[in-house]
Amino acid sequence: MDLKQYVTIVENWPKEGIRFKDITTIMDNGPAYKYAVDEIVKYAREVGAEVIVGPEARGFIIGCPVAYALEVGFAPVRKPGKLPREVISADYGLEYGKDTLTMHKDAIKKGQKVLIVDDLLATGGTVEATVNLIQQLGGEVVGAAFMIELTYLDGRDKLKGIDIRTLISY
Ligand code: AMP
Repeated sequence: MDLKQYVTIVENWPKEGIRFKDITTIMDNGPAYKYAVDEIVKYAREVGAEVIVGPEARGFIIGCPVAYALEVGFAPVRKPGKLPREVISADYGLEYGKDTLTMHKDAIKKGQKVLIVDDLLATGGTVEATVNLIQQLGGEVVGAAFMIELTYLDGRDKLKGIDIRTLISY
């Protein structure tokens, strides 16, 4: 299936100069959404994922159905102040300043094989911080899967040594 035809490009959103890749037009098409999830499920089986980790909020949209299909757990990565129990955190750089991501301290068991799933790989900052969180918890990152990769932002450079699977690239 040519998944790219279901992505809607929104010019100059959320700000001037950004070409936003809107994935809601994949999600609202049953066969396209299922195809995207199934492709990542196949990859997850190849790398032997034992748990799926996804950053809020679009990482949940792809990561949760993948975890369901594999009958493995899903652990959310969230902005500070959202998770109710003891958390660990990792900072990452933004265009201006920095942001922080958190995970529950008991979200992953030591040595567990973890697959990171998100909608889109841009600069790689979000996934780099997610890798940091997983490593703090003693998990082994066996791969990272994205529906979309913006290759011109070189996000892969931040993820050296990590196997990456993307379904659509720009
Ligand atoms: P990054 O940390 O730069 O890899 O980007 C993190 C997140 O920002 C991605 O997972 C997307 O949800 C969102 N994002 C960044 N750039 C775009 C874009 N051009 N279109 C849609 N979402 C984007």
